[in-house]
Amino acid sequence: MELELQPLNLPGIDAQRRPLVIAGPCSAETEEQVMTTALQLASNGIRIMRAGIWKPRTKPGGFEGVGEKGLPWLQRVHDECGLLTATEVANAHHVQAALEHGIDILWIGARTSANPFAMQEIADALEGHDVPVLVKNPVNPDLELWIGALQRLNNAGIKRLAAVHRGFSSYDKRIYRNPPMWHIPIELRRRIPDLPMIGDPSHIGGSRELVAPLCQQAMDLGFDGLLIESHCQPDNAWSDAKQQITPDVLEFILEKLTIRNQMTTTEGLETLRRQIDEVDNQLLELLATRMRISREIGTYKKQNNMTVVQTMRYSEILEKRGAQGTLNGMSNSFIRDIFEHIHEESVAQQIEIMNK
Ligand code: PEP
Ligand code: MN
Repeated sequence: MELELQPLNLPGIDAQRRPLVIAGPCSAETEEQVMTTALQLASNGIRIMRAGIWKPRTKPGGFEGVGEKGLPWLQRVHDECGLLTATEVANAHHVQAALEHGIDILWIGARTSANPFAMQEIADALEGHDVPVLVKNPVNPDLELWIGALQRLNNAGIKRLAAVHRGFSSYDKRIYRNPPMWHIPIELRRRIPDLPMIGDPSHIGGSRELVAPLCQQAMDLGFDGLLIESHCQPDNAWSDAKQQITPDVLEFILEKLTIRNQMTTTEGLETLRRQIDEVDNQLLELLATRMRISREIGTYKKQNNMTVVQTMRYSEILEKRGAQGTLNGMSNSFIRDIFEHIHEESVAQQIEIMNK
């Protein structure tokens, strides 16, 4: 094992009960919004509330969080509603301010876990403090970088750690805001089995409708917990409005979840089969992308009065892919066969465009 871990050991939380749920608004906006949301969550059985105080934004000018003045609001949530509180920290100053205000759980955002300098600064600031820290996956699909971020904290003595899977940035957005690439958290779980894994359906899906199915998927993959954005008035949220749900919808989604026992032998097999399903989905998406590009080429050829099949290019593809197949442990003929079929479909789609 690469990390020295201890259970999260959160006061008042039954560690045996799956899922561990952390819910709350993307951002703390006003004291009233924080308190209203907290009371609704608490009365729906939620025990841990999240709220971003400092918000990392892709571009300047957006709402960058209320900053330190929001920390006393979270203290009120702790003291008056009896909830544990969690917030994102991205530098040493945030760590210090959050700890001074008694925040119970810290999390590291995806833009921060991608940055070793920031991670080291945070780790140094945490030295000597025993606080649970959740580490979101870095924005880019790099498992080693994710593990590196966890290791830096662990080297600073943070043993109560968990990973949060929030999906990975992608240029070609389709269904998901951040495609889940499930094989990456699954591989992290295989490498560090004792590290709790928490799913973040809100940031993976980016839309309300996807929260429920993504929660179920995370549970089916044996994840330990869920981090879900919930706001008293989602439509008016100052950040990530489209993906936030009310505490009542959250309660409904959690009630409907099917929680299966973890890891009997057949479930081990099921996990592997789900990995296969996930890879097949990726293959299909890639094939669809390839066909789309191919149709664009068809349009180009039509406009420039070129033939559909250009023999030289076809031979080059078969040669190169065959050789790549061999390098990747598959037979040359198998890969050539596959690419012959792909090419056939490509040509068929281009011919359709030519004749339009
Ligand atoms: C968030 O949790 O609101 C957030 C900013 O998430 P991420 O770091 O995953 O983008
Ligand atoms: Mn958010």
